[in-house]
Amino acid sequence: MSLIVQKYGGTSVGNPERIRNVANRIAEWHRKGDRIVAVVSAMSGVTDSLIKLAKEVCDEPAEREMDMLLATGEQTTISLLAMALHSLGIPAFSLTGAQAGIVTDGKHTKAKIANITPNQVKQHLDAGAVVIVAGFQGQTMEGQITTLGRGGSDLTAIAIAAAIKADICQIYTDVDGVYSADPRIVPNATKIQEISYDEMLEMAGAGSKVMQARSVEFAKKFGVKFEVRSSFNNNPGTIVKEENKSMENVVVRGVSVEKNQAKVTISGVPDKPGIAAKLFQAIAEAGVNVDMIVQNVSQSGETDITFTLNKDDVKKANKITGSITELSSAKSVTVKEGIAKLSVVGIGMRSHSGVASSLFAALSEQGINIQMISTSEIKITVVIDEDRSADAVKAVHDKFELNLIK
Ligand code: ADP
Ligand code: ASP
Ligand code: MG
Repeated sequence: MSLIVQKYGGTSVGNPERIRNVANRIAEWHRKGDRIVAVVSAMSGVTDSLIKLAKEVCDEPAEREMDMLLATGEQTTISLLAMALHSLGIPAFSLTGAQAGIVTDGKHTKAKIANITPNQVKQHLDAGAVVIVAGFQGQTMEGQITTLGRGGSDLTAIAIAAAIKADICQIYTDVDGVYSADPRIVPNATKIQEISYDEMLEMAGAGSKVMQARSVEFAKKFGVKFEVRSSFNNNPGTIVKEENKSMENVVVRGVSVEKNQAKVTISGVPDKPGIAAKLFQAIAEAGVNVDMIVQNVSQSGETDITFTLNKDDVKKANKITGSITELSSAKSVTVKEGIAKLSVVGIGMRSHSGVASSLFAALSEQGINIQMISTSEIKITVVIDEDRSADAVKAVHDKFELNLIK
């Protein structure tokens, strides 16, 4: 008899039949005597269509109102799943994030969990019910509804597992686990049996949206071991946990791609102290989230600075090109969309060399130009044209023979 937190993502609860499928699966665990907390997402497509609706009535919707709106998606699913369980004769009780005791800071649309007091969760578990919690949402100390960023139901599940000291945390999704690359882009990608928190964190942060990056960070901090697996079959999934020595034998664990990126190039900037500080202060004040930054070696007292940003921030970046030029006395500022970041990740990179050269060779064999490069201890990222990203990920996956890794 175990205490289990299970998270079911949007596709897994995407229509009434799938909600009934999830209810049947939960009922089986419950009948065996396990105590289940099920965290659920909005039905697939619902969060996106709510965002679209908001933009149809207002150009820049207030973030507090966005949270009020988006939280309704998960609230629909918790009640439907409770009803589906009731019709199987299983006691079930649905709770919003606030009722589950998830207290967050006040950063609407990307709130951080401050603490959890899961009294109602425990109370209904003790009464023998399956407890169903709305993912992705919480409440501030002042009682305002917040959401935890896209993919935030993963975070709800991990955080509740930590708070109630669950024996097992299972993330049920629409693929069999974490693969060496997105199996929808690379058909011969292989399922990873075990992956370290750090590798999962880097892959998630680099575009492998099978897990929300912040949820992995939380799991690492609180030592929550979890399994990513399918809600459509009973295959074993991928275990995400603390690293061990044998994990270092694999040099590259996975390849990730992040699309919807853009880059800003500021050319002919005087190479003097203080310019970058001034520039990036103005960029931050405009609310533009900067990612990779590259500055060229100075030629005759001038340099070029390029940085990447999410496509969503391009409007804001376009608004400030004039002031960037003025502030830095730059010759030109260009904003380019249609780029993607490709990353290879693996803790084995700490002790093996030659990863960068193999990566660059794979891209060059496909005639793909590398526009920017950045490295960290366990990751190498390159910026390339978005329309070549599928070719690139397949070629890199082949180069590192990730299809052969068991
Ligand atoms: P959920 O709705 O269950 O949270 P998501 O759509 O957020 O599911 O995440 C699952 C999707 O992540 C898969 O359908 C897959 O296309 C994508 N994905 C991207 N990279 C990977 C990877 N390395 N391994 C597995 N899935 C991946
Ligand atoms: N429904 C939210 C989203 O689509 C949260 C989640 O599914 O995890 O991002
Ligand atoms: Mg998800």
